[in-house]
Amino acid sequence: MSVALTLTEPRPRKAAPRHLADLDLAGCQSVLSEIGQPAFRAKQLRQQYFGRHVGDASLMTDLPAAAREAIGEALLPRLLDPVRVDSCDEGRTVKAVWRLYDGALVESVIMAYPDRVTACVSSQAGCGMACPFCATGQGGLTRNLTTAEIVDQVVAAARLAAERGLGRLSNIVFMGMGEPLANWARLKSALHLITGPVPDGIGLSARNITVSTVGLVPTIKKLSEEGLPVTLAVSLHAPDDELRDELVPINTRWKVAEVLGAAWEYARVTKRRVSIEYAMIRDVNDQPWRADLLGKLLAGKLVHVNLIPLNPTPGSRWDASPKPVEAEFVRRLRAAGVSTTVRDTRGQEIDGACGQLAASVREAGTPGRAGAKPAGPDGAAD
Ligand code: SAH
Repeated sequence: MSVALTLTEPRPRKAAPRHLADLDLAGCQSVLSEIGQPAFRAKQLRQQYFGRHVGDASLMTDLPAAAREAIGEALLPRLLDPVRVDSCDEGRTVKAVWRLYDGALVESVIMAYPDRVTACVSSQAGCGMACPFCATGQGGLTRNLTTAEIVDQVVAAARLAAERGLGRLSNIVFMGMGEPLANWARLKSALHLITGPVPDGIGLSARNITVSTVGLVPTIKKLSEEGLPVTLAVSLHAPDDELRDELVPINTRWKVAEVLGAAWEYARVTKRRVSIEYAMIRDVNDQPWRADLLGKLLAGKLVHVNLIPLNPTPGSRWDASPKPVEAEFVRRLRAAGVSTTVRDTRGQEIDGACGQLAASVREAGTPGRAGAKPAGPDGAAD
C-alpha cells in the first residue's frame, strides 16, 4: 500500500464554525456586540476558556444564565465531538478520537509521567507526507485543522487530565496526525495561543512544546524566526539520502544535508537542543554502519536522538528492530558523543502509540480495548 506525497491541501467542503480561539480579543468583542452583549464579556470568556479550560458556555456561571446559550452559539460551538476516549497503562495514557464539524476524525493522546503530563496533538486531519511506515501517512491528507481545532485539543487535554486526576497539563508534542509545518499559518497562531499568558492564551511554556516535522526546510526557517523557543524535532529515520528518499518521501525535495542544516540553524537561533527522531526498523535502517554515519552527522551539535521502536502498521512489511540491535545502535551513537534515548511506547494497547493514529480507517473498527494489559514503557522518554 502506498500513497503519493501531497503538498497542496484539498479544498475544505464547508467553512469551519466561528470560535473564540480563531479570533483575537477585538474580534470576540465585536461578535459580542453583534449579539447585544457587553464587550467586557470577551475577557470573561477567554479567562474561562484559556485559563480554566471550560469550553461550554452553559457551564460558565459568571455569565448571566439567559445569555449563555446565545454566547455559546456565537463564540463557543463544540469543535471536538468525542467519538471514543480509551485509556491504558493503568489510566496514565488516554487517547481521544474526535469528530470535527465536517465529519473528519482526528486523535489526541495524553500521557501522564511522574514529572509531567504531555498531550500529543494533531495538526491536520490525515497527512500528505506519505511516509510508508506511518499509519496516518497511509490515509492521505483530508484537510488542515483550524487554529481553534488545534487549540481546542490542548484545552480538552488539560480538562481531561484534570478530570482524570492525572495532574496539570505541562507539555505538548505535535506528534499526532499531520505535518504541523504543512499547516504553518494555523500552527503559528496556535503556538502563540498555547504559550500566551492567560487570558490571551493557555499559558504553557514554549520550552515544553515540541513541533515534529518531516523537514520542510523553508518553514523550519520561519519557525526559527518566530521568537518562540519551542523544541524542534526532525523525523530523520535515515542518515543517507538513498534510504531517506524511501522512508520520508519529502527527502526527494529537501535532502538530509539541507534538513540538518536547517536544524542546526534553528539550534543556533533559538539556543534549543534539536531532537532527531529515528524509528528503528528491522534490517531497514538499523545497521551499525548507519548508526556510525548518523553519529558522524550529529557529533558536536546541540542535539538529542530519540530512537522510536517501530510500531508496525497493519499490513506493513516492516517490523521493529530486535532489542540487541537497538542497544548496539544506541551504543554507537553514544560512543560518537551523541546524547541518545529510546522513546517509550505508551498507548500501544489503544492504538495510541507513535504512527498508529489513523482514526478514519478505524472508525467502525475494533471495540474499545481499555483495560487490556498495559504495554508499559520500555525505555526513557524525552
Ligand atoms: N509529521 C510529523 C509528526 C508525525 S508523528 C513528523 O513526521 O515528524 C511523530 C513521529 O512518529 C515522527 O517521527 C514519525 O516519523 C513517527 N512515526 C510515524 N509512524 C511511526 C511508526 N509506525 N512507528 C514509529 N514511529 C512512527
